[in-house]
Amino acid sequence: MYVSVIKPIILYAASVWAPAVKKIGVQKHLNTIQRGFAQKICKSYRTVSLHSALLLAGLIPLDLRVHEHADLYEAKRGRPILCLPDDRELERRVSFMTAEHPARDIEIGFSCLEDLEPATVEKYQLKGQLIFTDGSKIEGKVGAAISVWREGEERRAIKFKLERYCTVYQAELFALWKAVELVREGKERQTCIFSDSRSSLELLQNPKSSHPLGFAIKKNIEQIRNQGKDIRMFWIKAHVGIAGNERADELAKTAALHKRTLADYQECPLSYVKRMIRQNSLDQWQDRYTSGTTGGTTKIFLPDVREAYKIIRKIQPTSTAVQILTGHGGFGFYLHKFKCKDSPSCKCDPNANEDIIHLLTDCPRFGRERQDLEIEIGIKVTPENLKEIMKNVEKRQSFLEFGVTIAEKIIKENKT
Ligand SMILES: [Zn+2]
Repeated sequence: MYVSVIKPIILYAASVWAPAVKKIGVQKHLNTIQRGFAQKICKSYRTVSLHSALLLAGLIPLDLRVHEHADLYEAKRGRPILCLPDDRELERRVSFMTAEHPARDIEIGFSCLEDLEPATVEKYQLKGQLIFTDGSKIEGKVGAAISVWREGEERRAIKFKLERYCTVYQAELFALWKAVELVREGKERQTCIFSDSRSSLELLQNPKSSHPLGFAIKKNIEQIRNQGKDIRMFWIKAHVGIAGNERADELAKTAALHKRTLADYQECPLSYVKRMIRQNSLDQWQDRYTSGTTGGTTKIFLPDVREAYKIIRKIQPTSTAVQILTGHGGFGFYLHKFKCKDSPSCKCDPNANEDIIHLLTDCPRFGRERQDLEIEIGIKVTPENLKEIMKNVEKRQSFLEFGVTIAEKIIKENKT
């Protein structure tokens, strides 16, 4: 309900009113709404702070979400935003003002080939110059290449480098673009272009696409046709031993790994911009969470918001586990604070508060169980070690089982 109804309503046109979020009054409103939902999502007590509830519900603060919307909106309009590196811009869509009128849109078909055996060559009349294109992402680096063949031999090979954040899809399209440019500028009358990226070729068929590279490719093909040259596109299966394709693949990988020039293409894909915007939000949330005065117990278990998000998604804590992770539950110290119990102290020692950290790490009443656990997980159960225990899958599981047993016992004890 929260994700599909409440959040979209609140974030409606968020990019317009994002500046108002800096006002404390607006922020308070947003916090109140979100805190209620976060508490219900994570099944916590109603006294749990905003910080803890958000963290355990796996939600990013609403005001940060508002800023995310605004940033994305600005980026899509080509305005600089803070979380992108200098002079980097989102790959801009082609505006409908510059795009071709639908009635004048050219048709670019392609045929699919399984191999380049003599029979296939004969059937499809593959002659003139053959250009193989490919894009590759390897070890986080991106490259593209074209390999030009005539009479069974490679005549030319060109490598291109793309920025690290570019996608393989961009690389494939970039290679296609460079290939058609080569054809437009060259003298060759007949060309066949081969790509193993079906999605790139399909993009060229889609009249509604506004991808800038797709647009550039189409423009070139139109000019090539106007020059009276013949150009045809083919999809070929990758990694089936087609020499030209293997060569283009190898060139693209070499370009990605070893080409030491400035990138030939550096437009940011949308996925990258979104990721940077999210990183920025998470940094801000981390600052807020760390410096905030609330959520003290949760911070002992989960000091890092990114880490916490991963953990919470995996364990989907029960309400008892949430009582442990927030300290808000049927424990003496908490009950006393809200005037439900006369004394905050633990049965083991009148000077020790019966709070969850004491129960888990210190209380002699559970010494045996704790010792068994410590032997099992190979680490001492101290307040300082709790965050380490939470990070490790097996340790966390055993620890939470141990915690839930204690918590259930204490909750029952305090009820009677
Ligand atoms: Zn105790």
